[in-house]
Amino acid sequence: MSHLNTQAFVIKSLDWKDTSRIVTLFTREKGKISVIAKGARRAKSQFQGILESINLIEASIYISENRQIQVLGQVSLEESYQKIKKDYTKTAYIFAILELTDIFFQKGAADPVFFDFLTVIIQQMENVSDPRIVFWYFLLKIASYLGFRPEFDLCKNCSQQKSGENVIFSVRDGAVICNACGIRNYEGWTLSSESRSFLELLQKTNHKKLDALTFNLVENFSYTDFLISYLKHHSEEDLKMTALKMLK
Ligand SMILES: [Zn+2]
Repeated sequence: MSHLNTQAFVIKSLDWKDTSRIVTLFTREKGKISVIAKGARRAKSQFQGILESINLIEASIYISENRQIQVLGQVSLEESYQKIKKDYTKTAYIFAILELTDIFFQKGAADPVFFDFLTVIIQQMENVSDPRIVFWYFLLKIASYLGFRPEFDLCKNCSQQKSGENVIFSVRDGAVICNACGIRNYEGWTLSSESRSFLELLQKTNHKKLDALTFNLVENFSYTDFLISYLKHHSEEDLKMTALKMLK
């Protein structure tokens, strides 16, 4: 048995037996871990109020490699992100981000780079006025991180950029195809010039400047549906996006 002290995000938890909870943590040092919080539902438990989803905690975990579920020891709360929790829309988007984190990261695979990125994203969600921008930024960045960065600048076929025109975004190629080349049967999403420019800008923006970005909604086009379908195609995961149903 070993002992681990680590920062962790609470991804989700479920009640276990009479008084305990089983909690999925995304830890900085060991990636995703399931832990049992014994007696967590007792009124005087040290875990009360700390094991809520989204919270950033400092956790002490007893690890035995041949167990599926590890044992949670002492915990303390580092951040509870009150502005997110008081905002229904922000909460739904962060739940969606945690849902994707749960799907894309296997148990026990440490990824401190992604952990730090997640910390930045959740802090930005806390600060911004339009949560959609942070969510779309996360979707673009996680696609890159998983190895299939979408390209929005030059036509994949002729390497030209034609501003002011609609383009086709080929999901399979992860790139835009200009109108002239698109005649040759590329399947994909039609992106208006405005949507293409916004996605390109969003992809290149520093996370600290997200709140300064503005966009116009384009009729019959959803950035969320577009980016989720792109992630689905390339990750080959069934992304149910349960959390986004809160917004419908
Ligand atoms: Zn072209």
